[in-house]
Amino acid sequence: MTDDEAFEIIRRHFQSLFPLTCPSCGRRYAELRDYILNTKRVGQAISYDAEAGVWDATVPVGTLALANCACGTTLGLSTRGMELSQRRALLGWIKDTTERRGIQPSELLEEVRDRIRKLALDNPARCGLPQQREACSHEVVVEHERGRQSPAPHDLEAHRVGPACATLRRW
Ligand SMILES: [Zn+2]
Repeated sequence: MTDDEAFEIIRRHFQSLFPLTCPSCGRRYAELRDYILNTKRVGQAISYDAEAGVWDATVPVGTLALANCACGTTLGLSTRGMELSQRRALLGWIKDTTERRGIQPSELLEEVRDRIRKLALDNPARCGLPQQREACSHEVVVEHERGRQSPAPHDLEAHRVGPACATLRRW
């Protein structure tokens, strides 16, 4: 398994976990990007199998990445529910890659996490019109995502965002 394949399997699986609702405050994270923008990461992503040095588990315990909801509750994205063959293949990839590069499993997983975050933030999935989104500053997009009232200077006209953008239409 190549780095890109591993990345894509993890990214697709995490994306499939949405929508996700915080059990404490009921906030609904519509998709991975929404979650990344509005939660705070907690600690390093961990592969329990890799940490324990168990590389040949028939049923790997899996990998977990934690983040705090705005209400303070810790939420987690894990590989639970991912197909077993893929989980075993990922574990093999973690073993090979960490040995080859001489790094810790959590370091590798944090690299994957950084890459997923960057991809999600650079590519607003709900907006089919990236060329129009570019006219909008990142800060303003965050405000859009939070569903806040538009501050005076941030009207649709000023950002040249067309009505076809589903995210922004929520205003
Ligand atoms: Zn919450």
